[in-house]
Amino acid sequence: MRGFITDMNKRLMENIYRTLIERAVELGAVQAKLIDTDQIVFDPRSHLKCRFGCNRWGRFWTCPPHLDLSQEMFMHAFSKYSKGVIIKTSEPKRGQEVAVAIEKEAMIVSGLRFAFALSLCVQCEECSYPDPCRFPHLARPSMDAYGVDIGKTLEHLGLEVDFDREGKLTPAWYSMVLLD
Ligand code: SF4
Repeated sequence: MRGFITDMNKRLMENIYRTLIERAVELGAVQAKLIDTDQIVFDPRSHLKCRFGCNRWGRFWTCPPHLDLSQEMFMHAFSKYSKGVIIKTSEPKRGQEVAVAIEKEAMIVSGLRFAFALSLCVQCEECSYPDPCRFPHLARPSMDAYGVDIGKTLEHLGLEVDFDREGKLTPAWYSMVLLD
């Protein structure tokens, strides 16, 4: 009996993940893929890249050093997740909107109450920092803000590189929704 229930739960979760992936594509993702969280690669050198050379550092509520949630706190929370969805879009605003919509659907429709999106916040040309955020319902940290090596993580997924009709590499932006 226990095996039957475990199988049923597994099938139920697979259906939920499939639906969320399909929804991400319906909402405008170029691709969306399920990932085991142990395939997500962290590299502390990402913090060096954030701190030096990125013009967002210190200017956005959603970027270091204003995250107000330390790397340790993030990693503690991250350790509770076993799955995530990686969302590829052709521009960052769409990526942010799809990721937050999937976070919401996972919570409300699928009952995954700790679903959490990570996506570069590009809602405003200039962030309102230090005044209150204008769109807190959309503002989330990016993956690299918390040390994710996006390139290495994508290698595990075999995400495709796209070319346009003239053979030029098309831009790609990545967001993620942690699911639980
Ligand atoms: S929504 Fe606007 S104000 Fe809020 S963090 Fe993003 S860029 Fe800043």
